[in-house]
Amino acid sequence: MIPTGFSYHRPADLASAVGLLQAHGDEARVIAGGHSLIPMMKLRMADLSHLVDLQDIADLKGIEITDDTVTIGAMVTQHELIDSDALAAAIPLIREAALQIADPQVRYMGTLGGNVANGDPGNDMPGLMQCLGATYALSGPDGGREVAARSFYEAAYFTAREDEEILTRVTIPRPAGGTGYAYEKQKRKIGDYATAAAAVLIRMDGGACAEASIAMTNLADTPVWAEDAAAALVGTTVDDAARKAAIETAVAAIDPVTDNRGPVEFKQHVAGVILGRAIDRALERAS
Ligand SMILES: Cc1cc2nc3c(=O)[nH]c(=O)nc-3n(C[C@H](O)[C@H](O)[C@H](O)COP(=O)(O)OP(=O)(O)OC[C@H]3O[C@@H](n4cnc5c(N)ncnc54)[C@H](O)[C@@H]3O)c2cc1C
Repeated sequence: MIPTGFSYHRPADLASAVGLLQAHGDEARVIAGGHSLIPMMKLRMADLSHLVDLQDIADLKGIEITDDTVTIGAMVTQHELIDSDALAAAIPLIREAALQIADPQVRYMGTLGGNVANGDPGNDMPGLMQCLGATYALSGPDGGREVAARSFYEAAYFTAREDEEILTRVTIPRPAGGTGYAYEKQKRKIGDYATAAAAVLIRMDGGACAEASIAMTNLADTPVWAEDAAAALVGTTVDDAARKAAIETAVAAIDPVTDNRGPVEFKQHVAGVILGRAIDRALERAS
C-alpha cells in the first residue's frame, strides 16, 4: 500500500518545526529517518496530513563528548553512532547495541531520536538509554525540559513527550573507567527486532560489584529498567547465587505477551538466558 496524501514541510530551524506542530495539531507528525513512521503510514496505521522533516535542522545533529557526559543530537543516525570512534571509546555499549539494530540500510537512515521517541517496545535504544541513565531534552511551545529515559516510557507508543514537543538531544553520563558492558539480543534472523534483549553495566571495586544497571527490551509494552535485578548484583562478587537472583528478579519484572516470536514461557526463558550472557560478558569486561 502507499500512504494517503500529505503535505511535506522541511523547516530549517527548531522554532519553525515546533510552530508547524502547533499550527497543525494532531494532523502533523515529525519525520526523522522515516524507517518506523513510513511503514506505519503505508500500512495506514498512521494517517497524517502534515509531515515535518527534521533533517535540515543543524541543532539536532552532532555528538559532543566531555569528561563527564556524551550528548547526542536526535538526528544522529544509527550508522553515525557506530562510525564514531570517539563515542565507542567513551561508551562502547552504544556501538555494540547499535550494530544489532536491523541492517546497514536501516541504520543509515534510522536516527537515535526516532528510535527513542517512537515508543515501540521493539526498539533497542530505549532500554539501552535506561541502562545508561540517559536524559532526553524536549523542546516545545513552552520552551525546553528534560525527562529521564527511565521515566519517559508510559505504554506502547505512549511517552512523556507532548504532541507539540520535539526530542532534541540525548545526554548520557559517561560510565566510570573500567565499567564492564554488554548488549545481548536474541532475534529470529538478521535484521529482526528482539525476541529478548538485555543491556548490562557492571562496575567492580576490590572484587565486589560496586554498581550495576540492567534494562530489558521487547519483553513488556515499555522497556524494563530492572533496578531490583541490578541491586541483586551490588555488593556481591557476581557469583552464581547473585547471578541467579538477578535473573529471577528481572524475569519477574518483565511482562511479555504471546506473539509470532513465541509464547510467554518461551520469552521468559529466553530473557533469562540472554540476561545471564550479558551479565557474564559485562563481568568479563569489568576491570
Ligand atoms: C526492516 C526494519 C528493521 C528494523 N529493526 C529494528 C531493530 O532491530 N531494532 C530497532 O531498534 N529498530 C529497528 N527498526 C526501526 C529503525 O531503527 C527506525 O529507524 C527507528 O526506530 C526510528 O527512527 P527513525 O529515525 O527512522 O524515525 P521515524 O520513523 O522518522 O519516526 C518514528 C517516530 O518517532 C517520531 N520522532 C522521530 N524523531 C523525533 C524527534 N526528534 N522528536 C520527537 N519525535 C520524533 C516520529 O514522529 C515517529 O512517530 C527497524 C526498521 C526496519 C524498517
